[in-house]
Amino acid sequence: MRRTVFNEDHEAFRETIRAFIASEVVPVYDQWLEAGQAPREFYYTLGELGVFGIEVPEEYGGAGETSFKFQAVITEEAARAGVSFGGSGVHTGLCLPYLLAYATEEQKKRWLPDFASGAMMTAIAMTEPGTGSDLAGMKTTARLSEDGTHYVLNGAKTFITGGVHADRVIVCARTAQSTPEDRRAGISLFVVDAGSEGYAVGRKLEKLGLKTSDTAELSFTDVKVPVEDLLGEEGKGFSYLGQNLPQERLAIAVGAYAQAAAAIRFTQEYVQERTVFGTTVASFQNTKFELAACKAEVDAAQAVVDRALDAHDAGELTAADAASAKLFCTEVAARVIDKCLQLHGGYGYMMEYPIARLYADNRVNRIYGGTSEVMKTIIAKSMGL
Ligand SMILES: Cc1cc2nc3c(=O)[nH]c(=O)nc-3n(C[C@H](O)[C@H](O)[C@H](O)COP(=O)(O)OP(=O)(O)OC[C@H]3O[C@@H](n4cnc5c(N)ncnc54)[C@H](O)[C@@H]3O)c2cc1C
Repeated sequence: MRRTVFNEDHEAFRETIRAFIASEVVPVYDQWLEAGQAPREFYYTLGELGVFGIEVPEEYGGAGETSFKFQAVITEEAARAGVSFGGSGVHTGLCLPYLLAYATEEQKKRWLPDFASGAMMTAIAMTEPGTGSDLAGMKTTARLSEDGTHYVLNGAKTFITGGVHADRVIVCARTAQSTPEDRRAGISLFVVDAGSEGYAVGRKLEKLGLKTSDTAELSFTDVKVPVEDLLGEEGKGFSYLGQNLPQERLAIAVGAYAQAAAAIRFTQEYVQERTVFGTTVASFQNTKFELAACKAEVDAAQAVVDRALDAHDAGELTAADAASAKLFCTEVAARVIDKCLQLHGGYGYMMEYPIARLYADNRVNRIYGGTSEVMKTIIAKSMGL
């Protein structure tokens, strides 16, 4: 089906990103995989290319675009090439909306120019060792000092994408106890300087896939966070998360759909080359039927993604819409990538084949940003159940 979701500007940007990936990422990608992360310099390159500044207003050094579709184009192109951009999706797709929506003028002046250039990489720390799906159960605390100049941050976070490279991390912490009526009360957001005393980056976690993103444990021991680094209003953190998680979930839906589309493309090429029993794998009716069924599923996922991208740019994407898009696209991707791997036979299990990497990379889409089960609870709630 012809797509109408992207305009000429998006498509021109796609060409730039496609050429950039081919010349700057693909040739060195194996080195990144071996190192377990994209190098820090890569993020400066993305800053120079203007990728980080697309949605940053012009007065702070960006291009001032308001369409999220540019980020979607990057996600699609990376998946198409079978690569990923390390923690950069978190920087622009997850962290920037918080800074744009809740930072004061003074904070924007202080942070956004470096954000756009790549000099200040960001990450977001919600999950803790004891709580992920149930974010209201977080234990990290931030107590205001007696003189009112700073908060004292204590606690630990885990699974933080970009946590090794991040210069500033949006940390969710309790500034007050929850109340019996509202477990979500008392949570605040801070943009914490990773160079602060008492801030420690723990292990870089060994993951099943997404080998080029640095996912880390973080700990805070009496970290002094100046009151100037509180983001938005104290105690409003949970509602801020609620407003921004739909974009994160849409981004994951886009990535999952794009990975499934890439899997079909890689598989189509493979089955036409591989011969068994004196004929190509592509010649079997089973192969044609499997790939045709995969294509139908991916077409449907694309329609969902496109509709959600339009709704998001129009400011109409609800939490339940985003949950539906994430649930559907990530489940489709899981089925499609698994079938595509099967059509590769044993070679599909070898990491040198892109389908094996896609299989490993894709698995987390049904977990992070809220699990499929959590997406179902959000959708069910919207149905009045
Ligand atoms: C690679 C990776 C990167 C990540 N990056 C970040 C990041 O940058 N920042 C960040 O803050 N977090 C990050 N996360 C954390 C991620 O968001 C959580 O792992 C996720 O929300 C699930 O939380 P959990 O791991 O604690 O699982 P749990 O909450 O312990 O869930 C365990 C199981 O219980 C199920 N479950 C939970 N609640 C319900 C329910 N109500 N009904 C039915 N079943 C339920 C879940 O679906 C799951 O199957 C990342 C995770 C990974 C793996």
